[in-house]
Amino acid sequence: MEKSLIIIKPSGVQRGLIGQVIDRFQRKGLQINGLKMMQLDEQILREHYAHLIERSFFPLVLKSMMATPVIVMVVSGKDAIAVIRQMVGSTNGRQAAPGTIRGDFSMSGQENIVHASDSAENAIIEIERFFSPEEIFEYTPALLQYQYSDDEIGID
Ligand code: ADP
Repeated sequence: MEKSLIIIKPSGVQRGLIGQVIDRFQRKGLQINGLKMMQLDEQILREHYAHLIERSFFPLVLKSMMATPVIVMVVSGKDAIAVIRQMVGSTNGRQAAPGTIRGDFSMSGQENIVHASDSAENAIIEIERFFSPEEIFEYTPALLQYQYSDDEIGID
């Protein structure tokens, strides 16, 4: 199954939304393979947001992402990266569709509750950045046959 790297940002931690974000992923039928709290520093954020370093708002991103510890998660499922990006919604909470995490919980372009990997290539890099192999767990979901049809999970 495809894996995505999720960060519940300081905006989600401080607003008491950790449980609600996790609940949404679990209700959908996604599996949690890793989960921990950590304090991000400038070094890891300059790697994680390398595509934003030249942008004028990057100092604000750094400050925002280091304001409190964050929750990092590895979440998996069939087509998990695209499914989760849809659940998260577009970057700016004011424009994100109702029903999405950002659309329901955020009024901000920056304080937008969660990060989710945007491609399979980036997910692999991001998971390695935030987790060591022994922190990621593979286990068979007990309800797998009620979450997917046999052909969706490769059973003949
Ligand atoms: P996404 O998080 O939706 O993948 P980006 O990778 O473009 O979006 O941006 C990473 C994060 O940087 C955003 O989630 C947001 O917190 C912040 N950010 C992006 N664009 C802006 C902006 N124009 N102003 C302030 N913060 C921004």
